[in-house]
Amino acid sequence: MSFVKSLLCRECGREYPIEPLNACDFCFGPLEVRYDYDALKRVMSRERIQKGPLNLWRYKDLLPVEGQNLVDLNTGFTPLLKADRLGRMLGLNHLYLKNDAVNPSYSFKDRVVAVASTKALEFGFDTLACASTGNLAGAVAAHAARAGMKAFIFVPADLEQGKMVGTSVYGPTLVAVKGNYDEVNRLCSELADTYHWAFVNINMRPYYTEGSKTLGYEVAEQLGWRAPDHCVVPAASGALLTKIWKGLTEFAMLGLIGEARTHMHLAQAEGCSPIVTAWKNGWDVVRPVRPKTIAKSLAIGNPADGFYALKATRETEGVGVSVPEHQVVEGIKLLAETEGIFTETAGGVVISALQELVRTGAVKRDDVTVAYITGNGLKTQEAVLDLVRPLVIEPTVSAFQEAMGGR
Ligand SMILES: *Cc1c(COP(=O)(O)O)cnc(C)c1O
Ligand SMILES: [Zn+2]
Repeated sequence: MSFVKSLLCRECGREYPIEPLNACDFCFGPLEVRYDYDALKRVMSRERIQKGPLNLWRYKDLLPVEGQNLVDLNTGFTPLLKADRLGRMLGLNHLYLKNDAVNPSYSFKDRVVAVASTKALEFGFDTLACASTGNLAGAVAAHAARAGMKAFIFVPADLEQGKMVGTSVYGPTLVAVKGNYDEVNRLCSELADTYHWAFVNINMRPYYTEGSKTLGYEVAEQLGWRAPDHCVVPAASGALLTKIWKGLTEFAMLGLIGEARTHMHLAQAEGCSPIVTAWKNGWDVVRPVRPKTIAKSLAIGNPADGFYALKATRETEGVGVSVPEHQVVEGIKLLAETEGIFTETAGGVVISALQELVRTGAVKRDDVTVAYITGNGLKTQEAVLDLVRPLVIEPTVSAFQEAMGGR
């Protein structure tokens, strides 16, 4: 038994049963899982959570799954690291890195897919599917393998090799579509009407996005049961930022932490920054763009949750930051050299955005600040190949000393 009540339209408030649905029949608004918060208030406690496993299932009461048949790769409860060296460089005394690059398929997408694949099994599906900017592909392929399900994965044909390999190895049907993510996603929306598959980010979307809340819960718990002053979050569809904020507000509402006064800062790369552009211009809607960015995992030109991410950023007095393309790799390099963490391009965007937030005074020296590192650098090696400049020598001491002399 769970605390889930229904699906609720975020726009008109109509209710729907718990089924593989993602849009309201009346207004086409997105559906969201609704919980029985009164019942949750009666049972939730820090102790109850702490008795759970050291992975995202410790928050199972707050996730839309029913039984015990979990698709479990031990996702989540990733390290929250105090970043003293990077903090000193930036002038921050309380900087933390949420290192989600160490999940089972090396990105935060394992969280959303853990929930979506478990729900898909509960609904009786035998096939998982997705439209992916890269990391979702690997997460879906891995979870399908773990669950003994079939998988159909649709990606833009120009995806980084590391993401192609890191998906193919699990044995799914991988479909490389000649088009950008938005075109892949439109194709999948059409396919979802024809094939009885669990498309994790389409017909399973209300359940899928709930998995991102655990990145809010975990950080609050790991900080000693408090919300940070700032979160710096990369955005593609915008669901991650929206749901981290939902997670923090749920924890506060349930009395697990004090009031959440976190500023939610939204980071995108300049070549695909539709949400930041809307934020900067004070628009109420996010206007679609055609992506052209090195940060391929964030390359969604028409973000499904853009409106809600924009709203959360405004509501929390956060800042939208678009990072110049050439600074993405600088961010990757800075994080690797100061903290020993190799992140992908999305992490480079976050670190460069954080620098900008410090420069403009939005984030101050003594604020508790969390930068979300959501993906692993081994998947986007193309971005940093220029850094590979070994000393090439013959196997002799003199050859080594000669090479050193040249430095
Ligand atoms: C998908 C992804 C994001 C963005 O998630 P959204 O919920 O689509 O905004 C951020 N970082 C990485 C590494 C991703 O793969
Ligand atoms: Zn509606």
